[in-house]
Amino acid sequence: MNRFDEKIDVKNNFVLPGLVDAHAHLYDPNFMNREDFTSGTAAAAAGGVTTVVEMVLSTPVDTAERVRRKIRLGEEKSLIDFSLHAGMMNLENLTHIGEIARIGVRSFKTFTCKPYYVNDHTLMSLMRETTMHDSILNVHAEDEESANENFQRLMLEKRKDPMAHLEWKSNAVEERAIKKIIGFARDLKARLHISHMSTAQAVSLVRKAKRKRVNVTVETCPHYLTFTGKDMKKLGPYLKMNPSLKTVHDLQALWKGLEDGTVDLVTSEHAPGERSEKEIGWEDIWKAWGGVPAIETMLPVLLSEGVNKRRISMTRLQKVCCENPARVFGLFPKKGTLRKGSDADLVIVDLKAKRKVRGSDLHYKVGWTPYEGWMLQGWPLMTICRGKVVFRDDKIVATPGDARFISMFQ
Ligand SMILES: [Zn+2]
Repeated sequence: MNRFDEKIDVKNNFVLPGLVDAHAHLYDPNFMNREDFTSGTAAAAAGGVTTVVEMVLSTPVDTAERVRRKIRLGEEKSLIDFSLHAGMMNLENLTHIGEIARIGVRSFKTFTCKPYYVNDHTLMSLMRETTMHDSILNVHAEDEESANENFQRLMLEKRKDPMAHLEWKSNAVEERAIKKIIGFARDLKARLHISHMSTAQAVSLVRKAKRKRVNVTVETCPHYLTFTGKDMKKLGPYLKMNPSLKTVHDLQALWKGLEDGTVDLVTSEHAPGERSEKEIGWEDIWKAWGGVPAIETMLPVLLSEGVNKRRISMTRLQKVCCENPARVFGLFPKKGTLRKGSDADLVIVDLKAKRKVRGSDLHYKVGWTPYEGWMLQGWPLMTICRGKVVFRDDKIVATPGDARFISMFQ
């Protein structure tokens, strides 16, 4: 046995491939009050995630130079392997797609609504361009016109309460956008990925599209599988997010979609805001930050509310959290699977362990979680990234600088 070998007795616990979280906002370097590469990937490692695909937000990553800078930053500061999505894409930066794709970032984000709204012509141009460069177009799908119609009414009614957010981003808002972009993807034979899907209507649209062989994949997130709009009565702005939370009917349709293969993957859509950025929303919901911390609780939530409650099997969890995200974003079979030749990314999971969630126990910079006080059953015990233990005995044992950037489709 050489000095790098270590025997680990996993006892009666499950061993899964490390999770691939294909949508997380780590904010580095512009909003480090909320998170950064090191804190965000510490939380990821403690949650069994071994590869994170960092998602652009308010700071553009839309030129080859900006992409390279972000990669350097990740290599310096991340604790686990990572990849990137580029964006926000629009008509101005469309011509950069080829050059960015050649670096190995082959996933591009755009919006059908504010604040990064692009019109139909731009959407179609982006689909043509990404397809030409063997890349994926990720769309935040909420229809701007319908959302604005709701918004104008809410303004006339002088609504600022947390529940107004739900009426702004109604089911129809998501349904219309998804119907439209699926049509575009079908006509242009483009490779479309729909971010954070939240409604029953969208699940059935995607089910039909897949039957007709439209090249579309979709994700949902733990929060849409565990909270509904009603929970905003108690948690208010802490549950403000876009898309908004919906109803029990939607939640059940998403679980069903996950189980039957309509919904391809689960991402954390980790998007923490500081308490102060949330608290302001009790007075005026429009001023509150939209997004929740989620990367560390994603696996425990899915084990507890999914596997232990028999909504999905352990095999299906492995598909939607490991294999499928790696396949969809071209990181497979290096990532997302346990097989010869793949990276040794593992998470050891105790499906019986019960623990109460406390924000203060988690690794987030913001110090809170929407799951505060939830008793979850099923927790990761140890996380291993590329053969190196990064989390064990409730401690992060990784050091920044060990992480690697993983190119897509290479
Ligand atoms: Zn996002």
